[in-house]
Amino acid sequence: MMRSICVFLLTVGLPLSVHGTNGLAMEQLADGIYVHQGVHEDVDSGNRGDIANIGFVIGDDCVAVIDTGGSPAVGEDLRAAVEQRTEKPICHVINTHVHPDHVFGNNAFVDSGAEFIGHHRLAAQLSARGEYYREAMARMLDTELDENVIVPPDRAVEDSMELDLGGRVLRLQAMPTAHTDTDLVVLDQATGTLWLGDLLFVDRIPSLDGSLLGWLAVMDDLRDIDAERVVPGHGPVSLDWPEAAADQQRYLEVLRDQTRQVIDAGATIDQALRHVGRDERDAWQLFEEYHEGNVQSAFAELEWE
Ligand SMILES: [Zn+2]
Repeated sequence: MMRSICVFLLTVGLPLSVHGTNGLAMEQLADGIYVHQGVHEDVDSGNRGDIANIGFVIGDDCVAVIDTGGSPAVGEDLRAAVEQRTEKPICHVINTHVHPDHVFGNNAFVDSGAEFIGHHRLAAQLSARGEYYREAMARMLDTELDENVIVPPDRAVEDSMELDLGGRVLRLQAMPTAHTDTDLVVLDQATGTLWLGDLLFVDRIPSLDGSLLGWLAVMDDLRDIDAERVVPGHGPVSLDWPEAAADQQRYLEVLRDQTRQVIDAGATIDQALRHVGRDERDAWQLFEEYHEGNVQSAFAELEWE
């Protein structure tokens, strides 16, 4: 009974607004598309790892979940959010990349029978990094996390793949190394909604864990996609494309250009950390937490070019 009341309120009451389900607010972007916005914080016990954008797409036959959040608790809330909106089965869980704030809710979907799908390098990266992530996330979340928290993909996207949910087709594309080396984008062709995962950060500072030059090159390609709206990995859940990429584009170009300048001037990494990109400080949330790491990565990448 409770469930039918919730479904009634959610489908009839506020179709295009934010509303809570088990503490997880979902926004409906278009017919059958729901996204939850994570907070701009580092993972801790207060936010339960709920720091990334996660969501799902409902087709005529079944549902695809896109990213699952930073803890089993967030994954369970996301599954509840799906089940409050549809009785259709969850057929796919798509992971946009390896970072734990996007995949540590996976385990909540294992017994749904869903097929887990990711970039062709995701399985190897989860294997290589999983234990480190598990320990780090358990510490930050101040909770126990067993090894089941790591759920590798059942199916790899080598280049591109289409998933038919019934009446709507999702097109998945595995990208070259950019934010990470496991980045996957998802386009809902029915509505022109493009999930970019962490290839796009808005408001929260981008974090570089792949290739700076690769990321800029990937953005050049993505900009040509004719999308009605994009869903970034962090930031507002629905934005115009390609306008939404402007701030990140500027930041990554500043990082590239100023790092090259200090390298050309013979600077050390310490000097680079003091100078590169400091003018970007007020443009981003969590700047101090991540900018130095980005400069170190950029320096290491560009030092020998
Ligand atoms: Zn990420």
